[in-house]
Amino acid sequence: MNITNNFNLPAALVNAMMKDEYTKGSSEYSVTGLLQPPKVALLREQYDSQIEIDISDKMFAFLGTALHKVLESTKMPDDCTFEERLYATVDGTQISGAIDVQERGPFGTTIWDYKVTSVWSVINQKQEWVEQLNMYKWLMETTKQERVVALKICAFLRDWSQNGNGTNYPKASIVTVDIPIWTATETEAFIMERLNAHRKAKMARDFGEELPPCSNAERWMSETTFAVKREGRKTAIRVLTSEQEAKEMAVKENGYVETRLGEPRRCAGNYCQVNKWCSQYQSGLVE
Ligand code: SF4
Repeated sequence: MNITNNFNLPAALVNAMMKDEYTKGSSEYSVTGLLQPPKVALLREQYDSQIEIDISDKMFAFLGTALHKVLESTKMPDDCTFEERLYATVDGTQISGAIDVQERGPFGTTIWDYKVTSVWSVINQKQEWVEQLNMYKWLMETTKQERVVALKICAFLRDWSQNGNGTNYPKASIVTVDIPIWTATETEAFIMERLNAHRKAKMARDFGEELPPCSNAERWMSETTFAVKREGRKTAIRVLTSEQEAKEMAVKENGYVETRLGEPRRCAGNYCQVNKWCSQYQSGLVE
């Protein structure tokens, strides 16, 4: 990966930000790796030497790393284990996950994960958090036979504002989020599904075939909406998600309907870093 410094940030800071200490240990897949879309993972591997990102784009990842470093160097209470990587073998493949904090209580262990994230992620709880923490729970119960009683995110909200409003708006800049717990059977089925998706993609790559496409969810596809508009008026009268309702309103309002197609935000914003090598995105294919 080539890192640019387009905004002339100080060299010492750039050096610190360039350090990439991510590891999946000796496992074939980490929990976070399994959660990545297989196509993104393989294209990144293939084009690693050509991917170019500016150091300023690593700010949020850097803040997350810095937070973990501070916590790592702080003495933990005796009933807590910090940053332990656990390994398990699933269907012949070794997977691993590094758990931020295991906090032992009288009834069992609570798993904590620290995240530097946005207010939006807390208001609309990310499915990825549910998947990640349930995989950690499964790893703990499988490898340590410890009972896990709660899964929690400690979220540091980088865009929190004192003036934020709305019933679900977080009350403070650091909040905790309870994550729903799956059964071991549900988690095992989910891990197998992810493992198979990655295996299938690798097989396609090895046979020189087209990689399986990213799904709409993986592409962060926004919803297609229907704006009810009227000639001579700049703004829409209403924007609806139902085309039928929009058409009915347009008749009543003596207007017309403008379709606003959903956009694959991960692709369009190049958050996957590989959109220029992705035929699915380049050809405008929508799954
Ligand atoms: S550009 Fe979109 S479809 Fe292609 S790899 Fe990235 S996220 Fe997936």
